[in-house]
Amino acid sequence: MQELLDDVLGGHRLTEEEALLLMKVKGRDVWEVTSAADRLREEKVGNIVTYVRNQNLHITNICKNLCGFCGFGRPTGSEGTYIHGKKHIQEMAALAKERQVTEVCPLSGVHPDFTVQYYADMIAWVHEVIPEADIHTASPEEVAYAAKQSGMSTKETLETFIEAGLGTLQGTAAEILVDNVRTAICPKKINTAEWVRIIKEAHNLGLKSTSTIMYGSVDDERDRITHLKILRDIQDETGGFTELVPLSYLCQNTKLYTTGKVQGGPTGIEDILMFAVSRLFLDNIDNIQISWGKVGNKMAQLGLLAGGNDLGGTMFCDDVSTDAGGEESDYLNPIEMKRITGNIDRELRQRTTVYEIL
Ligand code: SF4
Repeated sequence: MQELLDDVLGGHRLTEEEALLLMKVKGRDVWEVTSAADRLREEKVGNIVTYVRNQNLHITNICKNLCGFCGFGRPTGSEGTYIHGKKHIQEMAALAKERQVTEVCPLSGVHPDFTVQYYADMIAWVHEVIPEADIHTASPEEVAYAAKQSGMSTKETLETFIEAGLGTLQGTAAEILVDNVRTAICPKKINTAEWVRIIKEAHNLGLKSTSTIMYGSVDDERDRITHLKILRDIQDETGGFTELVPLSYLCQNTKLYTTGKVQGGPTGIEDILMFAVSRLFLDNIDNIQISWGKVGNKMAQLGLLAGGNDLGGTMFCDDVSTDAGGEESDYLNPIEMKRITGNIDRELRQRTTVYEIL
């Protein structure tokens, strides 16, 4: 293992089998892996920890997919559902402007009635109020469904969104890009090939996107590495990913957990190794985001010592995480971020969505 870690630090590109070995280490070997990831992070991106001043904007929690790992999406007509109209959306956008956010993230379930026109209108409403912000919305899943609803191609759909003011695409709905896992946790979502096709199409149109991995439900270490390999191959081809965001599965209020199909989310060591191996394996993605909303502030700090160099966003609200049982998921004040990073001798800097330092 030590030889392998030295090789990686010397520029060797990990194979899937090698990465799998690192993802499965036990005991104090875990600290060897995180320490190598931390050294590689320092070499590649230095000692700055970045964050983006952003705000989620929840449009609706009605969703046709009802994925087993999600506590947010609800069927039409069920208790607690909402769908916000133009007035509320623009009020939230005005609040984002007051808060001086540089990124607004409209975030929804996949509403059964949403069309390309609906998304374009919604993007335009936000853009009208806060044109200076990056509107970061729409996953490949939403692009595919809106396109189908409207009888358009996904390319035409993406072009329509760009025209309306879309800044960057969300690389969500990736979950685990292994079809038998997708069948178990999100059977109604597009399959791996379709997700890959749409994200490449977006990158080829000049759109940047995040990349994500939602790990720790029914997936195992090999599935996680297969997923990372798919992302690395896409990045080799398009260069369109701004970062990887590992999303630790929050299980509490999700069907997979309440029906006993999983015993819980990932353990702390699984989180830490996910961050570290991502840093070591993804030699072509500079930024590894540690999502404090998923792992909590204390684990986020440790993640920054295991290959992470970004703390994500201020968020201001995150119903997707809180509905699934997440604590400390709504808002992280940059003052607290500074305390977290200062304590590990790193410098906190604000960035844009595409990682320009402000
Ligand atoms: S993860 Fe997204 S698509 Fe799946 S149920 Fe939740 S909101 Fe709907």
